[in-house]
Amino acid sequence: MTIFEKIIAREIPASIIYEDEQVISFLDIKPNNKGHALVVPKKVSLNALDADEETFAHMARMAQRVARALVTALGATGVNFVMNNGEDAGQEVPHAHLHVIPRFKDDGAFPTFRKLSYEDGEADALAEEIKRAIA
Ligand code: AMP
Repeated sequence: MTIFEKIIAREIPASIIYEDEQVISFLDIKPNNKGHALVVPKKVSLNALDADEETFAHMARMAQRVARALVTALGATGVNFVMNNGEDAGQEVPHAHLHVIPRFKDDGAFPTFRKLSYEDGEADALAEEIKRAIA
């Protein structure tokens, strides 16, 4: 049983902000900014890669509503959605979840992307490979 299943089962406490039949949302215990929330599907899956489409879609739907609430309640001037899928992507809790992180001007909460470059033709070749793999 993961820590998130224990929260869903009320075996351990959490600062819950939303719950319905399919998802629960609560504040991250170690927030990147105060108000940083998690949206967690109740149906168990490891991450986005094995979650069923409806579960994933509902998680995204509720993340949008949580994001709007962070703007209204906290005056956030931006919001990041982050989902770590797999240990190499930084996933620590093996239960699918979407981070909804309120942002404020110059808060320094995230590093920026690395902004690598492609060689000539490399991006198109890669796009072709990925296009063929989309199921
Ligand atoms: P990830 O690295 O995407 O797996 O993120 C897992 C997140 O869960 C981290 O940001 C943790 O701070 C958070 N977390 C772990 N335990 C708890 C807990 N008991 N209540 C709330 N958030 C938690």
